[in-house]
Amino acid sequence: MKDFMGKSDKSIYVTQPFLPPLDEFQEYLKQIWDSKWLTNNGKFHQELEKAICKYLGVKYISLFANGTLALIVALKGLHITGEVITTPYSFVATTHALWWNGIKPVFVDIEPNTFNLDPDKIEVAITPRTTAILPVHVYGNPCDVDRIQKIADSYGLKVIYDACHTFGVTMKGIPILNYGDLSVLSFHATKVYTTFEGGAIVSHDEATKKRIDNLKNFGFVDETTVVTAGINAKMNEFQAALGLLQLKYIDKNIKKRRIIAEVYREKLKRIEGLTYLEDMPAVRYCYSYFPLLIDKEKFGKSRDEVYEELKKYNIYGRRYFYPLISQFPTYRGLPSASPENLPVAEKLSAEVLCIPIYPDLSLAMVEFICRIISNRYGKSID
Ligand SMILES: *Cc1c(COP(=O)(O)O)cnc(C)c1O
Repeated sequence: MKDFMGKSDKSIYVTQPFLPPLDEFQEYLKQIWDSKWLTNNGKFHQELEKAICKYLGVKYISLFANGTLALIVALKGLHITGEVITTPYSFVATTHALWWNGIKPVFVDIEPNTFNLDPDKIEVAITPRTTAILPVHVYGNPCDVDRIQKIADSYGLKVIYDACHTFGVTMKGIPILNYGDLSVLSFHATKVYTTFEGGAIVSHDEATKKRIDNLKNFGFVDETTVVTAGINAKMNEFQAALGLLQLKYIDKNIKKRRIIAEVYREKLKRIEGLTYLEDMPAVRYCYSYFPLLIDKEKFGKSRDEVYEELKKYNIYGRRYFYPLISQFPTYRGLPSASPENLPVAEKLSAEVLCIPIYPDLSLAMVEFICRIISNRYGKSID
């Protein structure tokens, strides 16, 4: 531990992208240079759609330039209008996708033990203008998909999952992406599986996939026919090439993340005032984040104090998700954005700190981070 007793000389961020060996990527680059086919449903794009469907266990996938465009197109593809029920506890793009479609977000509170949309609170928020529910599997932790579907069915609502944290997650062997009408993925640099930037929509029938594919390519169905006012949201060949390579390493990387999560849990488990998510039974996780909840009263220090303390050692956690989306100027005037409507989300948002987790993070560093969090306050982890 000697090297780690002082300030670490390299900054440690909440995440760091995994990149495959450069020479492996260069082989793909050579092919792109030879073919001069850079985008527009190229060879690697087609290969990646097939390979990702197989890996994830889903039927249809449409690749996108990024997750936000995929969210915007997903809503458009299902003709969602009016009001949509969603969570304030997410990355801001979830709600922005509604705004870009002229849809009014209706915020509903989350569950304290899962960080996900609380099914008990959905029904009272439904109005005659509600057309869909947009939940998020926060930190890759599955929503209560059965109850959400039941509510959606009884009110005739669509369900679109923001599954941007949820690469390869299964429940009782079933891919979580197969629930709801559509699921949206992000392959941004900070995500478990990355294509530099990138995203995807998982759909369950061919007609829907076709409609989505048209929408992401200006509405073109053939050389001269434009059937809808589509957008340009296509994934290019460089992204797709990296995606193909990443699939070779993804299982190993998720395993490394799991081991890190296990060390954090082991080292931090007996410290009063600290809690974290436990794995639910029968769920295979991707360990995209390690959220730590810091109860100021019991722990003796606030979340922000711990966040600042880590920074002194060049360790940069992130307060995901603080502020809540409902607190940003665009949304805070909405009646559903009031803190009284969202007490659980407000509380968790004030207590949460995501601490570093990524495949190349050494276990020595993980232990060091635990030591800073605990020892500094006279609460030894040993
Ligand atoms: C990353 C993320 C997005 C946006 O994806 P981009 O690929 O960065 O556009 C949307 N929702 C959630 C929950 C995310 O974490």
